[in-house]
This record gives sequence, C-alpha cells and structure tokens, in this order.
Amino acid sequence: MSDKKISARIYSPEKPSEEQARRFERFIKQRYKRDCGLEWICDEDISGGFRLEVGSDVYDWSVEGRLAQLQDAISSVKAAPGEDVIPLLKSAVGDWTPKALSEQTGTVVTVGDGVATVKGLYDAEYGEILLFDGGVRGMVQNITRQSLGCMLFDDGDSVKAGGKVKRTGSSAGVPVGECFIGRVTDALGVPIDGKGEIIASGYRPVESPAPGIAARQPVNRPLKTGILAVDAMFPIGRGQRELIIGDRQTGKTAIAIDAILNQKNSGVICIYVAIGQKASSVRQIVRTLEENGAMSYTTVVSAPASDPAPLQYIAPYAGCAMAEYFMRKGQDVLIVYDDLSKHAVAYRSLSLVLGRSPGREAYPGDVFYLHSRLLERSARLSAAYGGGSITALPIVETLAGNVSSYIPTNIISITDGQIFLDTSLFRAGQRPAVNVGLSVSRVGGDAMTPCLKSVSGTLRLELAQYREMKIFTQFANYLDDEMQKSLRFGEILMNILRQEQYRPYEEWEQAFIITAASSRSLDWLPDEDFEDTLRGICQSFAAARPDVIERINGGSKLSEEDRAIIAEFAKAAQNAQ
Ligand code: ATP
Ligand code: MG
Repeated sequence: MSDKKISARIYSPEKPSEEQARRFERFIKQRYKRDCGLEWICDEDISGGFRLEVGSDVYDWSVEGRLAQLQDAISSVKAAPGEDVIPLLKSAVGDWTPKALSEQTGTVVTVGDGVATVKGLYDAEYGEILLFDGGVRGMVQNITRQSLGCMLFDDGDSVKAGGKVKRTGSSAGVPVGECFIGRVTDALGVPIDGKGEIIASGYRPVESPAPGIAARQPVNRPLKTGILAVDAMFPIGRGQRELIIGDRQTGKTAIAIDAILNQKNSGVICIYVAIGQKASSVRQIVRTLEENGAMSYTTVVSAPASDPAPLQYIAPYAGCAMAEYFMRKGQDVLIVYDDLSKHAVAYRSLSLVLGRSPGREAYPGDVFYLHSRLLERSARLSAAYGGGSITALPIVETLAGNVSSYIPTNIISITDGQIFLDTSLFRAGQRPAVNVGLSVSRVGGDAMTPCLKSVSGTLRLELAQYREMKIFTQFANYLDDEMQKSLRFGEILMNILRQEQYRPYEEWEQAFIITAASSRSLDWLPDEDFEDTLRGICQSFAAARPDVIERINGGSKLSEEDRAIIAEFAKAAQNAQ
C-alpha cells in the first residue's frame, strides 16, 4: 500500500454526516488501497445525493446522475418498423436499476483546428470515442504520457479549455444495414438527404482488420464497367482494387460513375464515398445516379470540402464498414473512394495539428498505412465465408501527370492495377482518356469471360504499334498505301474506344465491335458520328442475328464462323448507310 494520500472531493448541497464521510473513506480505501484526504465542496446544482471525484474518476450518486441514466435507458429503446413501442418502454423502465456509475473525466487543455488536447484520461485507448461538453464527440488519435490528442467530429464551438471530457469505452463506428441503400449520409452514417431517419440493422467499427489469407479466394468473376476501353483491356474482377489516376478534369469520376450505373440488375451494391469535394459536385452526382435509376442500389457517403478534416479522414473507413456489412452477408459490393489524394491532405493537416513530425511532402510517416489498411479490406471471400466481395475503385489526382510523386506511388503499389487518364488525350477528344501504355490490370484477366478474352487479346499490342507508327510517320511527307492502311486501322481502334458518358456497352456489343474493328471491317466508317453509327450497326446486328448474340452471351469463346459472320455484317453495313 502506498503511503501517499489520494485526494478526493465530495460534491453535494449539504455537508455529509460523519458516518457518511467514514463510508466514503472506506469505499476509497477498498478501491484504491490508499488513505484519502476527503474534501467537501458545496454544490447547489445537485438536488440530492452525492458526486464523488477521486483523481480523474467520478462516481455519480446524485439524483441528476440517476435521472440521466434513466433517460439513457429510455432513449436506447429502438422499435423495428411497425412494432409497438409501449411494451418496450415499459420493460426498459421496469428493468432499470440505478448504478453507482464510475466514469473517468478529463480536462481539455487546448482546442483548435478540430483537435483537442486532453489531460487526465489515463486509461483511454487509441481510437476510443470521448464525449466533450455540449455532446461533441472526438476520437483519440495521439497518446502520450502527459496528454491525449483527440480529433473532434462535431462543430467544436462548445469545447473550451478547462471543459470536462468523458470516456465512452467504445471505439468509433457507424450504423450499417440494408436501409442505407438509396440514401445519402455524412461520414458518420447520419442521413443528410432529408428523407428521414435510417433504421440501422447493426453497428460496425470504422476500423477493422482486413480478411486474412485463408478467408479469401482468387478474383475470378468479372465486374463489368460497360466501358469498352476498361472491360476489354483492363478488366476488373470482383474483389479487385483498381486505381483511377489522372490530372484534374480528365474524367476520373466519370469512369467510376459509369461503373456504378452499369451495375444495374447485376446484384452488386454500390457505395460512393466523396471526400473533400465541392458539395455541389456531390449533389450533381447524386442527381445523375437518381436520373439513371442507380440510387436503388447505391449509398453515397459525403464528406465535402466544407466538412472538418476529421470527418474527411474517417469517411472512407465508414464507407468501407458499410460495404463490409454486405460482403459478410455474401453480397458483392463496389466502393468508389473519390478521392484519396484529398483524404491524404485531410490526414496531413490533422497530423500537423496533432504535432506529429512531418516527413516527405510534409505527410506524416504513416500515410502509406493510412491507405493500405483501407484498401486491404477489399477482398473476395471464400465460399466458407459467404463468398461476398468488395471491389474498390480508389481515385487519385496527379499534378501535371506526375505519377511518381509520393501519394500516387504509394497507392499504385497497394492496388492491383491502375487506369491512367491522360490530359492530352482528353483535350484531343479521346474520351475516356485511357492511356493504354501506362494502364494495367494485374488480376482482372482471370476474371474476364472467355469470349471477350478471345477477341481482345491483341488490342493493346495493336494500339501500341499504332502509337509508334504515328510518331514515326509524323514528319513523313509521303506514305505508301500499306502505311496509310495501317494508320487508318489504328485510328479505327482509337475511335472504337471513344465512348460517351452514361452509355455503357453490353458484353456482346463489346465483342461485336472489337471483332468487327480488328477484322478491318470498319475501316470505311467516317470519323464523324463514329460512335452513333457504330451503335446503329450494333442494333441492326441484334435484330438480324440474335443467334450469334445468344452464343456470345453464353460465355464460350467466339468461334471462327461467328467472327466471319460479324466481319461480313460490319462490311455490308457500309452499303446500308
Ligand atoms: P476532377 O479532377 O474535377 O474531379 P475528374 O477527373 O473527376 O475531375 P470528371 O468530372 O469526371 O473529371 O469529368 C470532367 C468533365 O469531362 C465533365 O464535364 C464530364 O462530363 C466530361 N467527361 C468525362 N468523361 C467523358 C466522356 N467519356 N465523354 C464525354 N465527356 C466526358
Ligand atoms: Mg472527380
């Protein structure tokens, strides 16, 4: 037993009797194995009972404390839709017994820029939620011997130096469930679309470990985006992480939104996480999803630029927790993080305010871990674990096409491939502006259907040859016939990759277009209105040869006869124009 006396204070409207004081001393001695110096402080705000403070621990036996406990018990009653709430309330009140709650309280030392330093909560854990005055929530981020660094989720105006802080004992989490589909929420799962409360099916921590190796199976089912340039050359499989990277305004978001729109009727649930974007852009995206009927299977988690950095930091983890709920139930999920460069910037500003030492480009040392622990949570679970999957499409913005700066290289090394969007292609009207040379998909090939694989195998090579030849012939003033034909062939290949937004191709259309182009049956097609004419040819093919389409949709390799039929049809279409 330590000799040092522990100081304790008792708050009550009236001075405790000698007998009561002895009981408090006995209680403290039993609990803390030390003698105490008990001090009485008159507190007129307490209408009855006592509040005892020992160090940073508080024991509340006051009338107010018990009323607050009762209030908590009643407000935690939640009825399912249609269920009568009265019996639930009755049993909540009937079962309630007052507890001598002990809670640790700390004191705010400094507060500013969405971060508070707290003294006194020596047992608080990393990631634990703390409650500040005015109900403001914060999350423990830094633990030192002297103090805690805590990021604040709500508007911290009511938090002042010297204010009280309480532990909650629970780590940060978000409500999850089916009812989130079709809704727009903030980073903590609170609806912001004005469509009323969301009845959650459960609660998941925002940070949770990624599935282990044994729980996974290889990526072998396709996730079709409906974009020819992606599906044919950089196919994405369910459970894959494919980075979309490019300068600003190069159509990054457009690819992700097209991928979401194409999941209609595929059973894939989509989650779009907007980080650090303009609120008006997010609104526009929600409208686009609504207009195209995609909100019936999509959740939007929004942490716009006007939100404090802690909310922007937590948003992708919250979105991932929502996705995990569906994956654990055996469903397939597509999640878009738009974008992770702004996420890294939010984390950098938080870390600097928390006093962590800045490293390369002023990012803190754990910025790699920031994204690796997020993206590793995407997986294709094995059948024993329900077979669900999370496919992630993180987006990263580069500056002047520089993919070798810090954040892009980090994320490139975490993901299973990248779709690189090129400003010069975009400006030249080649949209989507996929740079075929720099893009890659490392695992998606196994997930490709045999039909598409059989027709698109040489596409990348042919495009590479065209690029070389174009550079080579740039300054030539005479081109022979053969050369001109080869160049025309390359132009046609580039043309078939052009695709308007919100107009996905079906798989048979993709197979038809590639087969027709690589058999040189489309060389006659003029550049003007190329896409519309091509879609017209597809439609008339669907009407004329449904048997071929059926065979393509069957999934097997495209036979030589079918290839010949397609080539013939595409050539003959010239006369029909
Ligand atoms: P930011 O860096 O601002 O986030 P971004 O890279 O996400 O931009 P988007 O917002 O997707 O780019 O697209 C930029 C513009 O290009 C938009 O106006 C969009 O409509 C247009 N665009 C994108 N893809 C295509 C396409 N395939 N066809 C036609 N227009 C497109
Ligand atoms: Mg964008």
